[in-house]
Amino acid sequence: MVVHTRVVVPNRRAGDGLTSWGAPALRPITLTRLAQQVLSSAGWSALRTAERERWMREILAGAPLTMLAPIHERVSTVTCLLGLMGELQRAHLPPDRVTQVARPGREADVALIYAAYHARCVTERRYDAAGAEHHAALLVDLPCQSTLVHGFAYLDAAQVALLDRLCDSGSVLTLPAGPGTAARTLETVAALNAHGWSSTALHDPPRSAGDHAIHGYLTATSVPCLSAGEYPDIEAEVRACLRQVRDWLAEGTPPERLAILVRNEGQYLETLADIAADYQIPLRSGLQRPLLASGLGQVLQAWCDAHTQGWPYRAVSALFTHPLVDRPEFLERARELRTTTPTGLDAWGSEWRWLALPESTTWRGALIGTVQRMLQDFGLLARCKDDVELNRLVVRFLHRLEDAAQRDGPCTREDVLSLIGFTLRSIQLPALAGKSAVPVLNPLGALACTADRVWVLGLSEGLFPAARSDHPLIDSFIRQRWSAQGVHLPDVRSLASVEDALIVAMLGTAQEELVISRPRRDLEGHALRPSLYWTRLHPGHSLSDLDAGSDHEREISSALEGTFSSRVAAGRHVELARHLSLDSAHAGHLSTSLMCPDHTWTPTELQVASTCRFRWWAEYKLRLAPPPLPWSSLALAALEGAQEPGRSDPDDAAAAALEAHVQTLRTQGQWRPGPLWPAQRLELLSRTRQLTDLTDTPLPASLPGENGPHLLTISAHSHRFRILFPGTRVERTPHGRQVTVYRRSGDAGALGERSQLTPDMLMALTLQATRATIGHYVALDTGKPSGTLRHVRKPTGDSPIMAAREVLARLGDDLTSGDVRPLVSPVMEVCQTCPVRAVCRLGLEQGAA
Ligand code: SF4
Repeated sequence: MVVHTRVVVPNRRAGDGLTSWGAPALRPITLTRLAQQVLSSAGWSALRTAERERWMREILAGAPLTMLAPIHERVSTVTCLLGLMGELQRAHLPPDRVTQVARPGREADVALIYAAYHARCVTERRYDAAGAEHHAALLVDLPCQSTLVHGFAYLDAAQVALLDRLCDSGSVLTLPAGPGTAARTLETVAALNAHGWSSTALHDPPRSAGDHAIHGYLTATSVPCLSAGEYPDIEAEVRACLRQVRDWLAEGTPPERLAILVRNEGQYLETLADIAADYQIPLRSGLQRPLLASGLGQVLQAWCDAHTQGWPYRAVSALFTHPLVDRPEFLERARELRTTTPTGLDAWGSEWRWLALPESTTWRGALIGTVQRMLQDFGLLARCKDDVELNRLVVRFLHRLEDAAQRDGPCTREDVLSLIGFTLRSIQLPALAGKSAVPVLNPLGALACTADRVWVLGLSEGLFPAARSDHPLIDSFIRQRWSAQGVHLPDVRSLASVEDALIVAMLGTAQEELVISRPRRDLEGHALRPSLYWTRLHPGHSLSDLDAGSDHEREISSALEGTFSSRVAAGRHVELARHLSLDSAHAGHLSTSLMCPDHTWTPTELQVASTCRFRWWAEYKLRLAPPPLPWSSLALAALEGAQEPGRSDPDDAAAAALEAHVQTLRTQGQWRPGPLWPAQRLELLSRTRQLTDLTDTPLPASLPGENGPHLLTISAHSHRFRILFPGTRVERTPHGRQVTVYRRSGDAGALGERSQLTPDMLMALTLQATRATIGHYVALDTGKPSGTLRHVRKPTGDSPIMAAREVLARLGDDLTSGDVRPLVSPVMEVCQTCPVRAVCRLGLEQGAA
């Protein structure tokens, strides 16, 4: 029996799994870590990201380039070339071979840059993350010993070369290779065979859910332990996934034995984090994000941007109104300044001038006196007490600046800004760092890992397999030509086959239960087709068998599949009827009559109903809005109280009279104060005081017992209306009986001239009810008459009373037929003050227009 002294795995999690599985003495090591160890013992050190960029810029500036010369300073050129350097190193290509096959132009430029980059790595003994295995495989002395390599789905050329040199005879390497497996895995087998390894096929029957899923995937047969769910969008998909995870946790599965797998964590992590917070599910992800991508990073970057842009309003506002900044007065100030948009900090208060760094400063002064003070004064440090995540970010940020902050030496503003910018980009933090949490893994992180229950998200085209495109500098045609000359650089097709290897590895992680899902739309709302993997996997049962969270969600998912419950079918019918403007209850056409001859109308109610039937129905019948204030009646009571003979204080007397009248209205069930009554009461009393001051002379005495409600019953065609006029002051004058109605201009309930039942028509009805010959409205705001009407003894066709009857007749016809469709006056402002606009489709449409 061969005893393997070394075990190599693709990632740390796989190593932990192997150790806990029963081989604690194995001490597995990842291949990357092994490469780093041998490089380190040979005196090599890792190259940091910022150093890589600097190297590339220096190479581009000094190399005699042809095609790339005009664009060598662009950030995209640097990024693109760094990616290509990684590909060339992973393909384990010697620079001289690339130079031999490269044609003049961009190929020659790339070969030149690769040679220079490679030479500098070798000379300075530095390696980047993509080149560790490549440079390690080129070392002269390597610790060769018997090795077990387990858990990889495929290997690139540099990894094959390194393993070949590290593994002594008797070493074993396992790969999921067989008929139907990914081309990239078979290429790895061929490469190993070319290095003298021999292959042995193992035929173990499928045991775990993952084994069955892989078997089903390769043979296109149904998998009994596989469930599948299809969702309208990513959020719905993540909700379903986390609901299932919540159920699994509730059933007792430890979080570490669950796994959420996703091809690209970046596409799902925000949504996962948001919804997991709702469901209180701790998640953990290895994805690293720069501090700049966090809320704290955005505040600090906004502060840096404000400096570089010269403190324009937009930049200052972006800093002061960031959601993390806990200074409500900034929001108010931003609202005040939004029309003038002044530049500088003074507009926000001279006490904030210290935020702007002077041209010359000291490290301590800038970092402690300004940056740390900003975090303090903006409320971020106080927020850290409750926000663990923010606390973690602030501690990392301040810790990184600690050394610089202790320096008393001078520095410039640019020095400070560039240090902070660099710190924000260079601090990398795990995107999700929950303890004892459900892991969210990408395929590389999931290689050789196992979990009892696994959910694979995002099996839609473009998400998984990930979209790949040709490299802009060295495309597939060039790669094929190079390949024909013995220089193998994987082309886009070969890279795409990596995805096939990864899906197999992901499926294989599940031990007991496996769920796959896909969204129909991406985060931007674009339609997503099912991916190749989705169509090749045949689940044993649909996910609708599982807990759908609520009846509502179950109904929605069934409806999306074309099965409507009776409730959804009824709702669909309503929506269709609305869309086609068919007569229906939901369009405002009721099947029963709403006209009741015994109903007692108030003048305001009649005005509302005559103007818009729907508003009347919603406001008075469904009671969706508080009943309007009877201003006239209340004002009259307060005024009469204020002018009552023998009162000591007119204000107190007005208040007492008002209170007594409110009590009467309440007792009679005519009106009850709403939540705004305390404020309305103050307004009424203040208007009463104004009116009393304006009308110096006391009001003439009203006719005893005539101020009370007056009832009028009037016929309009076949309809009969009972109208109650609650507050009218009736006096005897030389010209006959006079009636006064107090109105408040701007009262939302008073439609005034905008009503079909105009104030003149209403006054004509009031005169009839009070048997007066002259009537006028008095504005509560000014105390002046705002409209007067004299009684017309012989009504003609166009007299207000006849016009009022016509309006009432139309209203009666509509209410009898149950027609309460929104009826908008030609004057559209009626909708602006409508209290039920929120439930009126027409009103909302007008608002949107
Ligand atoms: S918003 Fe306009 S149309 Fe709608 S109920 Fe109110 S007044 Fe009528």
